[in-house]
Amino acid sequence: MVKVLCVLYDDPQRSTSTPTARSELPHLSRYPDGQTTPTPSKVDFVPGELLGSVSGKLGLAKFLEGHDFVVTSSKDGPDSVFEQHLPTADVVISQPFWPAYMSTERIAKAKNLKLCITAGIGSDHVDLEAAAKANITVAEVTYCNSISVAEHVVMLILNLVRNFVPSHEIATSGGWHIADCVSRAYDLEGMQVGTVGAGRIGLAVLRRLKPFDTKLHYFDQHRLSAAVEEELNLRYHNSVESLVRICDVVTINCPLHPKTEHLFNKELIASMKPGSYLINTARGKVCEAQAVKEACETGQLAGYAGDVWFPQPAPNDHPWRSMPNNAMTPHVSGTSLSAQARYAAGVREILECFLEGRPIREEYLIVQGGGLAGTGKHSYTEGNTTEGSDEAVHFDKDEALQEGPPVKMQKVVTGGC
Ligand code: NAD
Repeated sequence: MVKVLCVLYDDPQRSTSTPTARSELPHLSRYPDGQTTPTPSKVDFVPGELLGSVSGKLGLAKFLEGHDFVVTSSKDGPDSVFEQHLPTADVVISQPFWPAYMSTERIAKAKNLKLCITAGIGSDHVDLEAAAKANITVAEVTYCNSISVAEHVVMLILNLVRNFVPSHEIATSGGWHIADCVSRAYDLEGMQVGTVGAGRIGLAVLRRLKPFDTKLHYFDQHRLSAAVEEELNLRYHNSVESLVRICDVVTINCPLHPKTEHLFNKELIASMKPGSYLINTARGKVCEAQAVKEACETGQLAGYAGDVWFPQPAPNDHPWRSMPNNAMTPHVSGTSLSAQARYAAGVREILECFLEGRPIREEYLIVQGGGLAGTGKHSYTEGNTTEGSDEAVHFDKDEALQEGPPVKMQKVVTGGC
């Protein structure tokens, strides 16, 4: 028997929330580069169910019968359920959307821990250096939501450039103030668009933007093949500084590691083309929060959009919640119901390997055998980026529920979409 400690986000809180809108999902067996989608022996859920919140248990309850399986959303602070169970856990599972931060101190307390699974992509919530020293394996479900995020990035770019959010607010509040809607609205066509990081998400964003007749740029520590550069008519930059000087739209798609922490600071943002748009669905800490806010206020940034913050949940008074020209959401792009089905299956695949003593797929590995491994070796640098994560304890759930805007729900029709 093993002890599996799993942190998931809370179940739906609003009384008007309905479980799901569609009754089925498209079936995918491979990702764009040919990698297979997760291959557990079976799954005990119907793809499309809400699996990422506490009652969904990532669809693992039946599979883990006979083991000690603890599922909680209480993750921050010394009194959390997570901290109570951590010293005896063999496996920790959490999602980047509601991360169980595994700081140096927490890893030191987790004497039995052998495996940290990220149900999603991006394992920066774990002190990877401390995990390596303690010989803990860190694995994630590589590719499970890369396309989910790429779709979201394209949506956010269009959202900002076309000034969607303020126009939507005018419509829902009963107005018809066209000049107010369009005074900041442009076409994306012809704009210079660049990605920092051209891995699975960055490349998928570039591919999706090509039909918009944009001029495409990228910076990555690994150069793409000449064939891909030619196919997408890409311009490669050998530094982030070179890319941001030219681009009207910059999208961040690299992991958070010591070399990307606070990469978009005051100085780099000041060197961007004035009036550019910055889209960050990678990790909040890649940007300096205050520098982004000030740039949105002065107009150096025409807009900032994304779904990632630091820490998570973000403090109720985080400056990005209220700064001008933002199109922010909580961390959601990688946890669509479609993505949940893939990462729940991927977590089960990893657990099956662990319990049966079989190797975990190389591409799922971030840390193993005392150092970076697999995707970790390709996309991260050694070190720790969890510092400050204990601030997540200050988020007040009740304040958020009282002050959040009312959610307008449409009547949901199931089936036959
Ligand atoms: P990936 O490993 O396929 O690609 C990451 C790319 O970033 C690699 O090509 C790597 O070389 C590049 N990179 C690393 N350091 C860099 C640096 N200093 N400068 C430029 N490029 C650098 O991963 P992916 O699937 O594309 O995901 C990327 C990141 O996106 C994840 O690590 C995660 O942080 C984030 N993500 C967010 C969500 C979400 O829900 N918002 C979901 C999935 C992933």
